[in-house]
Amino acid sequence: MTKFSELELSPSLLKSVKRMGFEEATPIQAKTIPLSLQGKDIIGQAQTGTGKTAAFGIPLIEKIDPKNPHIQGIIIAPTRELAIQVSEELYKIGYDARARVLAVYGGQDIQRQIKALKKGPQIIVGTPGRILDHINRRTLKLDQVHTLILDEADEMLNMGFIDDIEAILSSVPEDRQTLLFSATMPDPIRRIAERFMKNPETIKVKTKEMTVPLIEQYFVKVYEREKFDVLSRLIDVQSPELAIVFGRTKRRVDELANALNLRGYIAEGIHGDLSQAKRISVLRKFKEGKVDVLVATDVAARGLDISGVTHVYNYDIPQDPESYVHRIGRTGRAGKEGMAITFVSPREMGYLRTVEQTTKKRMMPMRPPSIDEAFEGQQRVSMERINEILNEGNLDQYVTVAKELLEGNDPLLVIAAALKLMTKEPDNTPVHITEERPLPMKKDFQRSSKKDSQKSSYRRGKQSSSSYGNKNRKPKRAERRP
Ligand code: ADP
Ligand code: MG
Repeated sequence: MTKFSELELSPSLLKSVKRMGFEEATPIQAKTIPLSLQGKDIIGQAQTGTGKTAAFGIPLIEKIDPKNPHIQGIIIAPTRELAIQVSEELYKIGYDARARVLAVYGGQDIQRQIKALKKGPQIIVGTPGRILDHINRRTLKLDQVHTLILDEADEMLNMGFIDDIEAILSSVPEDRQTLLFSATMPDPIRRIAERFMKNPETIKVKTKEMTVPLIEQYFVKVYEREKFDVLSRLIDVQSPELAIVFGRTKRRVDELANALNLRGYIAEGIHGDLSQAKRISVLRKFKEGKVDVLVATDVAARGLDISGVTHVYNYDIPQDPESYVHRIGRTGRAGKEGMAITFVSPREMGYLRTVEQTTKKRMMPMRPPSIDEAFEGQQRVSMERINEILNEGNLDQYVTVAKELLEGNDPLLVIAAALKLMTKEPDNTPVHITEERPLPMKKDFQRSSKKDSQKSSYRRGKQSSSSYGNKNRKPKRAERRP
């Protein structure tokens, strides 16, 4: 464990870091910061949520000369949201050092950006296209840049920015420090590193170290057509504070968000087709707790720092284990506990096993809750509310009418009526969710599937609709109640 105070940072930086509530450096920070302060080029590979922004942000701020009004550091990020997020974090890290940070991204008025660029920012955070645009207009002068950072490099590759990045890299003085951060290292990214970096030091924080032990991981075996009912019931039983539901496609995200709203949840969807303004407003509402359930595609949620998420529901199991790790990384952050629940259709069990091999952790099977359990879960939410109000006290003004209610009524029924008034009852409003085909069956799984289903016959039992609502069915030992 490395404390920030052990990292030989200047007092103003330590002050800002302390204000941010950071005490101990995360593993990637502890390894990156000293090397970066020495001026070395670094390739940092670590999963989302491991604190990569501060890993490059702290040494960058340390290197900024506050008296020099020219751009000294440039950070390239794949999306507007990430650029904004990184610039906000850098602003905080550089607050006491008085570093001036500016975010530039597509979709924002370019004249306004040009004006802001004239005010002497020292650090630019931007998306590839817009940075290149400014370079071509000569509104972004990079001759004094001593540090260049590529954040989420693999994501930029996925989004087709590789040529833009090469163009930007070629316009920044060669005599510079280059840092590259990425969750994965596909070949084209490796090649960029070889071409544009000088003897880079690779720092890799292994996935194993990172599948946060605080995340409880479950899977629910469920047929496609049952998924939505199972999702609503899980939400009712678990009453998550903040939940993210991941869907495989944009259509799925839209349909799920609509369907959830129809059933009385406050949900919003986020995916690449939404306007920038819409995406930012959805995220803000989610962070402020005005939206309970965020429905997202992988790309839309990738890299975003959304803290306080208690539950991640994978409505569709992701095709590759990397995405799984990214998705569940949305929860259990900064030492908080989280729960991840993955829906798997019977044919997709092979994908589940692949994920488990990558994370080196088994997911526990979870039985879908029954309608009764969902209903009871919601009543418990009301009960907790009542207990809170009882604790707050201040009920004098209600006592007269309360007495009147109790006259001639069974007190038990009076309470039951009050609960009924407060509780979200099971909602069967019909919804439409287009069925998606399960992922193609994995060959290696076909061979073992028979053995598997014999071993765990209870899983088959769970699928029959008669097991819904059967309160007397005793769960087998291995099963967990939601
Ligand atoms: P990444 O870029 O690896 O996905 P971020 O840089 O977005 O991760 O950090 C994730 C969250 O963790 C942010 O809210 C950030 O403020 C917080 N964080 C980063 N470093 C620390 C630390 N050393 N201690 C506590 N929280 C941290
Ligand atoms: Mg990041």
